[in-house]
Amino acid sequence: MLFTYDGIVVGRRDIGESNCFIDILTDEQGIIEATAHGVKKINSSLLGSCGLFSYATFCLNKTKQRYSVNSAKPKRSFHELGSDIEKLALGSYFAQAVKFCTPQEQAAEGSDSLVRFFAISLYEAEMARDTARLACVKAAFELRFSCMLGYFPDLRGCCNCGCGEHDEMFFLPDSGELICGDCFDREYSGRYFVLTREILGAMQNIVYARLDEAFRFSVSPQAAKLLGIVTENYFLARTERSFSALDYYKSIRME
Ligand SMILES: [Zn+2]
Repeated sequence: MLFTYDGIVVGRRDIGESNCFIDILTDEQGIIEATAHGVKKINSSLLGSCGLFSYATFCLNKTKQRYSVNSAKPKRSFHELGSDIEKLALGSYFAQAVKFCTPQEQAAEGSDSLVRFFAISLYEAEMARDTARLACVKAAFELRFSCMLGYFPDLRGCCNCGCGEHDEMFFLPDSGELICGDCFDREYSGRYFVLTREILGAMQNIVYARLDEAFRFSVSPQAAKLLGIVTENYFLARTERSFSALDYYKSIRME
């Protein structure tokens, strides 16, 4: 039986001389693992559409609970990512995170399209002009993806008095709440981050803006650094794991 899905390749494992398994991120079926036969042959029609980060319309054949790629029509490739080791490492982290957090062969929940979100993340990484901007793209990915997984922080204001603005806003990553400098218990022993207005504004944009606007913010390089620490902590605490691709990205990124 044939099925057609728009999707992006988020994983690829070679099998033998000419075949490989690919993991395709789709909105309808989450992650689909499919065999791409003959994909490594130089004259294969699948050559351009089954590589990592290929965004294509896939026609899949399903027999005995296994999918194989029948044909694929490329929509967009993010091959520019491959020309920059830092961007490639970040894209690989995004792929690993999405692959781990998305169920296999079942529709993802939530109103935002996961495929669109992933395509925007790769596009923004590809277009990033410097390390500080790349750090912002990473932060936007981590925080928005947390929301898409159902882990919404409450960034509207202080969870005690409700004030929306304060020179010192404390963010508690374990509960996802904000508490202002007047209400914060200075003896508090749990984890927290002090957010400047600039960082809080960026986080509010990431969480509350429409999907295509979520990555559109700019902060100073110094703020980008702290923003990245906050979102990474929040995302890893929520997903309760580490990612080898993230460790690699952090080991090679330019400071
Ligand atoms: Zn307060």
